[in-house]
Amino acid sequence: MSEITLSIIKPDAVRNGYTGKILAQIQAADLKIVGLRMLQLSRKEAEGFYAVHKERPFYQELVEFMISGPVVVSALEGEKAIERYRKLMGATDPAKADEGTLRKLFAESLQNNAVHGSDAPETSRVEVAYFFSSVDLVS
Ligand code: ADP
Ligand code: MG
Repeated sequence: MSEITLSIIKPDAVRNGYTGKILAQIQAADLKIVGLRMLQLSRKEAEGFYAVHKERPFYQELVEFMISGPVVVSALEGEKAIERYRKLMGATDPAKADEGTLRKLFAESLQNNAVHGSDAPETSRVEVAYFFSSVDLVS
């Protein structure tokens, strides 16, 4: 069954000029880009997006990082898109990410780890809707 997942190219990767390379890898992995925006997150938006991590010690620094520059958000569609994009991203900690994954190739650190991807159908629905209304997505 086809799914839609949310990708964010984080401020480190945008700053380092990796936007094009990451989008190319997404397309090469047969994930279809059905929505695409570049934007600057406000503090409120970043806090809301990462609200599940509110109690974690890294939360405030993560929010600071996420608002430190523009991000590129996209909605990606395909069979098992959520799981397949997580696999393309690699482990949260780039030091533990497999060779060839986006985080291994492009991340700076555990926090500045280049990309975000939804982790489950329930979260992907909320996350895609956080940035795209249904009329913004191509079919
Ligand atoms: P993922 O992005 O792989 O789903 P999490 O949901 O656990 O990982 O964490 C969200 C984001 O918070 C990570 O992508 C990373 O930017 C940051 N993060 C996670 N764990 C840490 C940590 N121990 N120290 C600093 N930042 C972290
Ligand atoms: Mg997560």
